[in-house]
Amino acid sequence: MKTVIVGGGLGGLSAAVYLAKEGGDVHLFEKNEHFGGKMMPVDQDGYHFDFGPNTITMPHVFKDVLFQAGLNPNEELPFLSIENHTRNQFSDGTTIDFSSNPDFMKEQLRKIDPTAASHYDEFLEEVEKLYHLSNRYFLNRTFSSWRDYLSPSLARAMRKVRPLQSMDRFFKHYFNHPHMVQALNRYATYIGSSPYASPATFAMIAHLELNEGVYYVKGGNTKIADSFVKAAKKLGVHLHSSTEVEKFNVKSDRISSVKLSTGEFVEADRVIVNGDLLESLPALLTEEERPSLKDKKICSIDPSTSAFVITAGLDTRLNMLNHHHVLFSSNYYEEFRTLRRGQYSFDPTIYISTSSKTDPEVSPRGDNCFILVNAPADQKDNDAPSATTYRDLIYDKLYEAGFPLSSHVKIEQTYTPRDIQYRFRAFHGAIYGPSSNSKLQAFRRPFNQSVDYKNLYFCGGSTHPGGGSPMVVLSGKNVADKILGKLRSIE
Ligand SMILES: Cc1cc2nc3c(=O)[nH]c(=O)nc-3n(C[C@H](O)[C@H](O)[C@H](O)COP(=O)(O)OP(=O)(O)OC[C@H]3O[C@@H](n4cnc5c(N)ncnc54)[C@H](O)[C@@H]3O)c2cc1C
Repeated sequence: MKTVIVGGGLGGLSAAVYLAKEGGDVHLFEKNEHFGGKMMPVDQDGYHFDFGPNTITMPHVFKDVLFQAGLNPNEELPFLSIENHTRNQFSDGTTIDFSSNPDFMKEQLRKIDPTAASHYDEFLEEVEKLYHLSNRYFLNRTFSSWRDYLSPSLARAMRKVRPLQSMDRFFKHYFNHPHMVQALNRYATYIGSSPYASPATFAMIAHLELNEGVYYVKGGNTKIADSFVKAAKKLGVHLHSSTEVEKFNVKSDRISSVKLSTGEFVEADRVIVNGDLLESLPALLTEEERPSLKDKKICSIDPSTSAFVITAGLDTRLNMLNHHHVLFSSNYYEEFRTLRRGQYSFDPTIYISTSSKTDPEVSPRGDNCFILVNAPADQKDNDAPSATTYRDLIYDKLYEAGFPLSSHVKIEQTYTPRDIQYRFRAFHGAIYGPSSNSKLQAFRRPFNQSVDYKNLYFCGGSTHPGGGSPMVVLSGKNVADKILGKLRSIE
């Protein structure tokens, strides 16, 4: 059986490896020069940046892909655990450091929120419970039709994962101090959504970071994509970069072949789309050829947030920067309201990842700052500031907060939501596919299997279980397992 995979993001590579392990004849086509999709190396004048995933959780998910090919994950992916991983800095200059060491967390809480300090263990237990429920009922399975939502066990699980409570409400139940709530609310941005709208289910992200920990791969997180390519090649996957799939050819209820940008046609017994399906399908099939995903339906889907990114290589090492550093806006609620209106915030929260703090060798000449600000998905906002104006605003804000970055910049590139859209074919430049800003949309992402074509499947951030590097790897595995008939049913 010949499988064609459209897109070589982490989800597509993962599906390729799990299928090839069982002897599948797998052909993967990626339009960009590099494999890994949004996990993209940016190397400029001796500075290395991990574009995309800087915060890595759930290392076992990545390691499992390498096990399939008989590679040694500890050699291929030297994961380093960063205990005190994220400095959260607020507009009044105070800080809270997030750590996977509960004693360190309680020590900080005792000074600002003593009641929360005494309930911190309960909080950790609750977010762990949310994670285990999600893991059992949502993360390791595919969703292929509405019937999949109707199982009684799933309905029971749905009630337990707090779908009707917002993340903000959930965190406020455990913490009184506004800074602590603000720092935790940032987890909603990991799914490109607002903490005031998305369900408390996603508070499970706190379990991943505060119980299990945040990781970094020595040499750069993009080594994850490199190691997946190595695994795929070892298992005989045919990998083609700089090759776009331009069209699907349809024969009754099947995709019979795909047309490549080289002009070649490749026959397929089945096809897996890893590219963002809301952006890909309209390009690959005419509207008449996709009755269950008409343009009107696509237009009604709320995209998750996008990002405005600066990769800045400095001529020095700034001691005040932590590996993961967040400078919060003074009014988080207003920031999300602005984003949901499709506008840029002029008082944005700024995230800086400087991997040279953990791994100086990736950037010997000075710090490598990956600066990210949440931006609205590109929906033709005519009032959007130019990249230069917004970059300057970010540097001004950093300067006011005591970070004189701009005067040390040696090399620099900026990326707008539109760049993200075109480079990765992301729906309006959204990072995580559809948003989870409504209770319904959070759980009803596009299915992993086409309703219109029997041999067409989807994996990656726009489908189940969702965006984020470990999730898309699971998505690829789940689709491969479904094809191979290996998915266990959930009772
Ligand atoms: C700025 C930014 C920061 C992020 N930070 C984090 C983080 O800290 N931690 C984390 O876990 N995640 C993070 N993410 C999210 C994470 O990168 C994504 O969820 C994940 O990498 C998406 O993987 P994917 O498999 O869905 O596919 P993608 O990475 O979207 O790859 C899909 C690929 O398909 C290709 N493609 C599309 N159409 C075609 C076609 N017709 N023919 C051939 N190829 C095609 C595209 O070129 C692309 O390479 C971040 C993302 C961004 C953009």
